[in-house]
Amino acid sequence: MFSKLLNLFFPSKCPVCESKSDSYLYNPFCTNCWKGIEKYSGPACGICGRPAISVHTTLCESCMKAKPPFSKALYYGIYEGALKEAIHLLKFNGVKRLSKPLGLLLSELPLPEVNGIVPVPMHHKGLKQREFNQTAAIAAHLSKKLRVPLMTDALKKTKATLPQTDVGGEERLKNLKNAFSVSGKISGMDLLLIDDVITTGATVRECAKTLIKSGAKSVTVAALARSMPRQNT
Ligand SMILES: [Zn+2]
Ligand SMILES: [Zn+2]
Repeated sequence: MFSKLLNLFFPSKCPVCESKSDSYLYNPFCTNCWKGIEKYSGPACGICGRPAISVHTTLCESCMKAKPPFSKALYYGIYEGALKEAIHLLKFNGVKRLSKPLGLLLSELPLPEVNGIVPVPMHHKGLKQREFNQTAAIAAHLSKKLRVPLMTDALKKTKATLPQTDVGGEERLKNLKNAFSVSGKISGMDLLLIDDVITTGATVRECAKTLIKSGAKSVTVAALARSMPRQNT
């Protein structure tokens, strides 16, 4: 009954297979496509989680060169298919109700015990444009589920930066340099930093660096998805 009613308001087709949506839990996705979102279990770097080409590598080149400021970066799946579609709908089409099922995906990760959950912040200009921070919305559902405090204001983005997708390689770290600052009390805390998609990892590195510099004891990263690295990088 409820889902019939919902279909009246959201007469929707599953964006992946185009069959009719059959659940209000992850509408507009159909149950088949939502349940088909796979946890990544292939070879990966033991710290940053970068999918590895070979099963014999335990650490990626960049983690070997310099240990990242976070203890570990966890993520649910590869940024493709239904997962990519869902993040896209939430982020750019404002389908806010997807923040709940996506937040629940994060709760299935092997997360450590932490004192607080910190979403990757947006600059106020970006926030004005998009009206909401999708990462904070996802983190809020995770916080509720885990009963761990959500610390939305602990980390702020104080510098407007170019979208990371517009800058290449080395420029990505420079673009984000000193873009974040801490405003809350985080001294001695074990924190969980939430992002939606990890691409090169530059954003979560910079955020974690800022948190550690301000006294956090540890930072673990949890993201919904990770994009497959290009072969030549
Ligand atoms: Zn479907
Ligand atoms: Zn790595």
